[in-house]
Amino acid sequence: MADVSAEREGLMDGMPRDDRGYWQPEGLKLPNPVFDWPPNPLKIVKWLYNYLFPWNMIYMLIAVLTVVYLQPEMSKMTTFSADWIAYIFVRNQILLIVVVSAWHLWLWSRKSQGFQYKYTPDWLAKGKKQFLFGNQLYDNIFWSCVSGGIIWTAYEVVTLWAYANEYIPYLDPARHPVYFVLMLCGIQLWRLFHFYWVHRLLHWPPLYKAGHYLHHRNINIGPWSGLSMHPIEHILYFSGVLIHWIIPSHPIHAVFNGQHAALTPAQGHAGFEAIVVNGKSMLRGASYFHQLHHRYFECNYGEMDIPFDVWFGTSHNGSAEDHEAMRAKRFASHKVSTSAA
Ligand SMILES: [Zn+2]
Ligand SMILES: [Zn+2]
Repeated sequence: MADVSAEREGLMDGMPRDDRGYWQPEGLKLPNPVFDWPPNPLKIVKWLYNYLFPWNMIYMLIAVLTVVYLQPEMSKMTTFSADWIAYIFVRNQILLIVVVSAWHLWLWSRKSQGFQYKYTPDWLAKGKKQFLFGNQLYDNIFWSCVSGGIIWTAYEVVTLWAYANEYIPYLDPARHPVYFVLMLCGIQLWRLFHFYWVHRLLHWPPLYKAGHYLHHRNINIGPWSGLSMHPIEHILYFSGVLIHWIIPSHPIHAVFNGQHAALTPAQGHAGFEAIVVNGKSMLRGASYFHQLHHRYFECNYGEMDIPFDVWFGTSHNGSAEDHEAMRAKRFASHKVSTSAA
């Protein structure tokens, strides 16, 4: 016990927290200024820079390198055969394990920055019956690699097969370089749009009970919680890749779309606001907005880059006032539904 309290002294580090040790910053993430009126070009440029650098660029680079160096020949993928499908499955598993482990090992195993910029005062749960193997980490790895890895690969394999057979519209980057780059940069926005609506659907009680509950067993979240989902949720979640069946695109776009869905939740759920190197905050970390979704459930279904939550009145910035407003709304809607019944 002495060790735990000594460790928790790290929480008294002058970071913005409530009295229980939960992250509670003053300056909160604002909605995307692209939707402001009148437009403020300087704010838009700043948003665009943060949208692209450094993370989106890093994930794009991984996708380009994957397709250029680690992709089977198109001619091979015209028919489904075990060799190239198994190759893509193993490639995806390695990528997933390397990327998610990097976040996990640095922040949660090595505790390289202790509680600096950490959202919650707790580490991952052990000895809890609601998790497989009684261990949150092993449970999260299982659902991410087995269900997530298989369904991600399945979407990718069928899409590559469809490209190889010219069943879906192909975009030649040499002929349409601008369109190619714009589409690549826009995939993250498409994913945020798709994620919001799929996520709203998953909070519809029958689907929540059938699948999404599994992701929400993680209240205190870590990198491996990100893709820890029920197969029903994975099928809906990765379906954003199907846009490439309709809109002319290149296999790089489709692979990036799937990889973005598979690899970025580790960051979103990493549980730390920033990555510290040599005592300084060097890189943007997780999504505090989504962290609050795990804590309060009925808010923050999307992200502020497309501020649906602001437009539909479900945004929660972590403050006591927002929490009170959410509870009042919940109480009022409960009263309406019981008096209507
Ligand atoms: Zn949810
Ligand atoms: Zn989540």
